[in-house]
Amino acid sequence: MAYDFDLYVIGAGSGGVRAARFAAGFGAKVAVAESRYLGGTCVNVGCVPKKLLVYGAHYAEDFEQASGFGWSLGEASFDWATMIANKDREINRLNGIYRNLLVNSGVTLHEGHARLTGPNEVEINGQRFTAKNILIATGGWPQIPEIPGHEHAIGSNEAFFLKELPKRVLVVGGGYIAVEFAGIFHGLGAQTSLLYRGDLFLRGFDGAVRKHLQEELTKRGLDLQFNADIARIDKQADGSLKATLKDGRVLEADCVFYATGRRPMLDNLGLEHTGVKLDKRGFVEVDELYQTAEPSILAIGDVIGRVQLTPVALAEGMAVARRLFKPEQYRSVDYAMIPTAVFSLPNIGTVGLSEEQARADGHNVQIFESRFRPMKLTLTECQERTLMKLVVDADTDKVLGCHMVGPDAGEIVQGLAIALKAGATKQHFDETIGVHPTAAEEFVTMRTPVAD
Ligand code: FAD
Ligand code: NDP
Repeated sequence: MAYDFDLYVIGAGSGGVRAARFAAGFGAKVAVAESRYLGGTCVNVGCVPKKLLVYGAHYAEDFEQASGFGWSLGEASFDWATMIANKDREINRLNGIYRNLLVNSGVTLHEGHARLTGPNEVEINGQRFTAKNILIATGGWPQIPEIPGHEHAIGSNEAFFLKELPKRVLVVGGGYIAVEFAGIFHGLGAQTSLLYRGDLFLRGFDGAVRKHLQEELTKRGLDLQFNADIARIDKQADGSLKATLKDGRVLEADCVFYATGRRPMLDNLGLEHTGVKLDKRGFVEVDELYQTAEPSILAIGDVIGRVQLTPVALAEGMAVARRLFKPEQYRSVDYAMIPTAVFSLPNIGTVGLSEEQARADGHNVQIFESRFRPMKLTLTECQERTLMKLVVDADTDKVLGCHMVGPDAGEIVQGLAIALKAGATKQHFDETIGVHPTAAEEFVTMRTPVAD
C-alpha cells in the first residue's frame, strides 16, 4: 500500500522534532503535527523559560554579594512584567527557529490537534493522512490532585505567564519543579513556603544532597514544611487563598502552585482506534525499540514515562529515526549514568548511583565528601556551602556516582558524566590534575574516605 508519509510524528516537542528532522535527513517522507507550540514543553513551559527565571532570581544574591567586592548599587528593584515579556520574546524567537529547522529539513508541518483514526491513519484539521509508521511524542501535562478547591491552584504551565509576582506563594511537591520554582519565587522576593508530603524532598536523590539542600534553602529563609499536605483550598473575599492542611493548620497565600508530577498527554488522541496499550501508571507501553502493542505505532519521550528529561527524549527520537531509516547506524539508548541537574538555588548536579542505591545494589561502598565555602563568597557575608560527594565501589575502585550541591553543579557534572560513562575509577580521578582555582577541582582532590 502507498502511504502519504513514511513517518507521521504527533508532537513537535523535544523527541518529536528530533525524530522528524533526522528521519527526513535520512530520506524519509515525514510529517509532524503540533497542536500548541513548536519545541514542546522544554522550549515553551519547561527547561528554557525555567532556566531564564532561575537566572533572574539569582540576581538578588549577585547584587547582595557585589558589595563585598567594593560595588555599591542603588536600591535594587525587580519588575516581573519586564522579565516575562523578555522571556516571551526569546521563546517566540526559539519557536521560529524550530519552524525553520523542520521546514528546512523537508518535514511537512501540520498545525493542529492530531488524532489517530487507525493503526496507519491520523486525522488533523478535518483531513486524514496515512503513514507507514506513526510516532506518538505528545509529552506530558501537570497533574494536580483533585482536592476541594484545586481549581484555585496553578501548575507550571500557568506559572510562566502570571501577570504579577505573587506576594505569598505555597509550592506543593518535593520534586524537580517544586524545588526549582520555590527557588525562583523566593529569589524574586515572594514569601515562599514549600510543602512536601514526605520527610525530606527530592526522593531518589542522594541523602547527603537532599539534606544539604534542605540546610541551604533554610539558611536563605525559604520556609520548608515537610510532612505537610493541603486538604482543601478556599478563595477568600479579597481574592487571596486559604489552604487548610491535612493536620488542620491554615496557611494564607496569593498563589498555590502544584508541582506534583506529570501525566502522559493522551487527551483525545484516538488510542481506542488502535491496539496501543498503556502501562500500570497510564503511560504508553513500549518495548526496547519504542514499539507499542500496535506494530505500526511507536512512542518516545515523556509519554512513555521512563525518564522525563529533554536529552533522553532527544536520544529516543534519534534512536527511532535511525532504526527505521538508517538501521546501520542504530544504537540503543543507554539509560545508565544519565546526568541530571536540579536548578534550585543552589543547583544540584548528579550522575550515577546515590549512596543509598549503591548500598542497596550490594556494592561495598566507599564515600568521599567535601563541604566548603566557595571562593567567590569569601569576600561576602554569604554563608552558603558547597557539597561534593563521590560514591566509589571499594572492591573495583569504580566511581559509581558523583553528586554536587553548589553553583554551576549541572555544568560541572556534565563533564564528570563522560568519565563515569567511560568507567572511570577513583584512581583516574586522583591522577587527574585539577583546574585551579575552581570548585570543580575538589572532585579530583578528595583523598580520604568518610568513616562509615
Ligand atoms: P514535549 O516536549 O512535551 O512535546 C510534546 C508536544 O506534543 C507538545 O508540543 C504538545 O503540544 C504536542 N501534542 C500533544 N498532543 C498532541 C496532539 N494530539 N496533536 C498534536 N500535538 C500534540 N528536562 C530537562 O532535561 N531539563 C530541565 O531543566 C527541565 N526542566 C523542566 C521544567 C519544567 C517546568 C517542566 C514541565 C519540564 C522540564 N523538563 C526538563 C522536562 C522536559 O521538558 C521534558 O522531558 C521534555 O520536554 C519531553 O519531551 P517530549 O518530546 O516527550 O514532549
Ligand atoms: P516529580 O515526579 O519530580 O515530583 C513530584 C513530587 O510531587 C514528588 O515530590 C511527589 O512526592 C509529589 N507528589 C506526587 N503526587 C502528590 C500528591 N498527590 N500530593 C502531594 N504530593 C505529591 O515531578 P515534577 O512535577 O517536579 O516534574 C516532572 C518531571 O519533569 C521530573 O520528574 C523531571 O523528570 C522533569 N523535570 C526535570 C527538570 C530538570 O531536569 N531540571 C526540571 C523540571 C522537571 P513523593 O516523592 O512522595 O512521591
